[in-house]
Amino acid sequence: MKSVLIIGAGPAGIEAAITLKKAGYNITLLEKENETNTNLRNKKLLFPDFSEAEILVDAIDSQLLDNGFVPQFNTEIVHLEFNEPCLIATDSNQKRYTADAVLVATGYRAFDATRKEEYGYGIYNGVITSLELEEMFKKNSIKNTFGEDPKKICFLQCVGSRDEKSGNNYCSKICCITAVKQAIELKKLSPETEVYIFYMDLRMWGQGYEELYREAQEKYGVYFIRGRISEAAETFDGKVQIKSEDTLMGLPLKMTPDILVLMVGMEPSEGTTLLANKCNCEEEYGFFKTLNPIVEDQKTSRKGVFVAGSCKRPMSIPDVLADARAAAVEIDNYLKIKK
Ligand SMILES: Cc1cc2nc3c(=O)[nH]c(=O)nc-3n(C[C@H](O)[C@H](O)[C@H](O)COP(=O)(O)OP(=O)(O)OC[C@H]3O[C@@H](n4cnc5c(N)ncnc54)[C@H](O)[C@@H]3O)c2cc1C
Ligand code: SF4
Repeated sequence: MKSVLIIGAGPAGIEAAITLKKAGYNITLLEKENETNTNLRNKKLLFPDFSEAEILVDAIDSQLLDNGFVPQFNTEIVHLEFNEPCLIATDSNQKRYTADAVLVATGYRAFDATRKEEYGYGIYNGVITSLELEEMFKKNSIKNTFGEDPKKICFLQCVGSRDEKSGNNYCSKICCITAVKQAIELKKLSPETEVYIFYMDLRMWGQGYEELYREAQEKYGVYFIRGRISEAAETFDGKVQIKSEDTLMGLPLKMTPDILVLMVGMEPSEGTTLLANKCNCEEEYGFFKTLNPIVEDQKTSRKGVFVAGSCKRPMSIPDVLADARAAAVEIDNYLKIKK
């Protein structure tokens, strides 16, 4: 029986593992953490339907069990090479794994907001990231730094994306809709809290996203302001003050929100960039670059090495799952003719 090694037990790796197992391959699924789906477990509700992330994670884990899978946890792959006719992956303990094909599904990490010093993250207490706001939702407790209920919350879009200075010219695709989702969640919890979203332009990429954006304005009264925040500073009483310009009205703005939420974009995970380098695959911004984004989007420049999900660019979960199934088909086609 031919074998496939899958690196990363997030939505992409797991979906491909189950599909390939059903097609009759011997699968080894390796994960560097001690649990699956680490990038879903830190979220409360998912866009676009406000479903519970925890329920999705449980459903994915049950699927794994039903298909007789136990991922090999605490296994970080740090090297990947092609040694005709096999691929050899090596983990951080120098253990080697051979396979007929490899699927890299090592995903993303969130942009490190301390790199945008001008927004005061890590300097002023009132500045948090979208992931930290998710943590607050998970704890059912939205408080400012003084432990009070916030009356005014501002979001800033495109932090670490579409930004030459941080080296990321691409759009992260998920942060506009995440801001809309989080703003609605805040309004549902506390209708009188004022919520402002500062944007360059809003990109609603998926099914139902545009409708949610309208609902945020018309039903929940979220304010959308076209303009960048030029800087954040601290007031004498420890609050964050932001300066911006409403570029539609041509007016300068100064605000003192209780919380400033930075909408951090998606960057390749360390594993993604490392493995793209180690196997000499072409890369873009540290993500894997595929042979062709339209017709060969699961293949890399390295024979036998395939990619799925957000290790090649920012993607939402539905896109990741569809991509993983497409990768499984490509691997099946490859292995059917491989000697
Ligand atoms: C703030 C934020 C909110 C989001 N909210 C939503 C939402 O509401 N709805 C939605 O559809 N999408 C959302 N997303 C996107 C969603 O998180 C991704 O689409 C999804 O997690 C990508 O799945 P993946 O399998 O490609 O990668 P990941 O989820 O990143 O999984 C990759 C896995 O590979 C493992 N790994 C990495 N390197 C190695 C290595 N060297 N060896 C072994 N294992 C390794 C990691 O530990 C991880 O488990 C959000 C993203 C962000 C940043
Ligand atoms: S999805 Fe929105 S916030 Fe995210 S990078 Fe693209 S335009 Fe900016």
